Amino acid sequence: MHNHDYDSSCIFCRIAKGEIPSRKVYEDEEVFAFHDINPAAPVHFLMIPKKHIASMAHLSAEDSPLLGRMMALAPRLALEQGCNPYPDGGFRIVVNTGAEGGQEVHHLHLHVMGGARPWLKG
Ligand code: ADP
Repeated sequence: MHNHDYDSSCIFCRIAKGEIPSRKVYEDEEVFAFHDINPAAPVHFLMIPKKHIASMAHLSAEDSPLLGRMMALAPRLALEQGCNPYPDGGFRIVVNTGAEGGQEVHHLHLHVMGGARPWLKG
């Protein structure tokens, strides 16, 4: 990873580096996944690129393979973490972007949530 890919003031950069503890779900050279500290569903983990990308609004064309790989990895990790299989189970991926999108941590992250359907009424 290049130095400019790491922002020492970013909490998720520091989590990806192991400088701040987290409950790790998965790690490879480019991707880190960990349980959300304030889960909104029985299964709720975050997937982040290790390099600092502030939001979806900051993606460049060269990031497409990385994002594609994260999306393809999500179903496998969701099952491993206890989400029930498709079609009766499943999961939700949410990517909050910018203030009006509800983004509070400015390092791109996928929320992967499942194990129940708190977002559905009834
Ligand atoms: P929101 O808080 O509105 O969901 P984001 O989409 O930016 O905004 O999500 C940030 C997520 O990061 C939250 O779900 C929050 O619980 C989680 N979070 C913040 N700090 C930590 C941490 N140290 N370890 C794990 N999860 C964290």
